Amino acid sequence: MFALGEPTNTPYDLRFNLFGCQVRVSALFWLVAALLGYNHARAVDYIYDSRGLDTPGAFVLLLVWLFAMFVSILVHELGHHFAFRFFGIDSHIVLYHFGGLAIPSGGRRSASTSPYARKLSAYRQIIISAAGPAAQILLAVVVAVIARLAGYHIGSMASWIDYFGLPAVGGESPNSAVLYALIDFLIYPSIYWAIFNLLPVIPLDGGRIAEEIICMFFRGTQRDAIILSMICAVLITLWAFQRGETFMGMFFLSFASQYKLLLNVSHLTFHV
Ligand SMILES: [Zn+2]
Repeated sequence: MFALGEPTNTPYDLRFNLFGCQVRVSALFWLVAALLGYNHARAVDYIYDSRGLDTPGAFVLLLVWLFAMFVSILVHELGHHFAFRFFGIDSHIVLYHFGGLAIPSGGRRSASTSPYARKLSAYRQIIISAAGPAAQILLAVVVAVIARLAGYHIGSMASWIDYFGLPAVGGESPNSAVLYALIDFLIYPSIYWAIFNLLPVIPLDGGRIAEEIICMFFRGTQRDAIILSMICAVLITLWAFQRGETFMGMFFLSFASQYKLLLNVSHLTFHV
């Protein structure tokens, strides 16, 4: 289901340049994002409507969701892009049906096999991989701080944060459903997506980090990392289906079923 590389160009792609980085958004990005957000948009509309508060309807709230997903995943990929650039590597971004990719130009991993070069390359790879989720969590934190400073409640993540006893909850729900949705949809999917990406499953960022750690500290090989990924992907698939998280289950099932293919791809360079 997921493509092991850059999705093909179509006439429906949105293209623009941001901070010197070429960005392409495939039409399927919006479609899958809409499927993921439909229930969230309806829930916010229902809550506001049932309280007799101002709501423009689920369709407009779904547009807010699409905007938030676009910003969140773009920020994630820009994290990878700037980390690549920090190490002197140019890259471009593609947003597609399974999120985003930051693809280094002519990207090849260092062919050097000296221990020092290998170590440098591993640290560099870990930083590049971690930069995406880190940028996305930073976005969530910035939005949460702005919302709280403005006196607003930070939406559905508040109960989670409250669970951990952090002093971030409180505030009023905005009178406008659009503002509530904007705050909630920028914070909640960003944190969720960042955590999800840190799971130790290749080609997710966490899988890349695990691969480097296995190779650097445990003298393992990429094959070991792929075996770990496969075990994790199968466990997460079972967990997701058991919890009724069908989309997530399908997602990881598609990973688990393609590892034979991954074993034959020796230079996976893109970052999801
Ligand atoms: Zn990433």
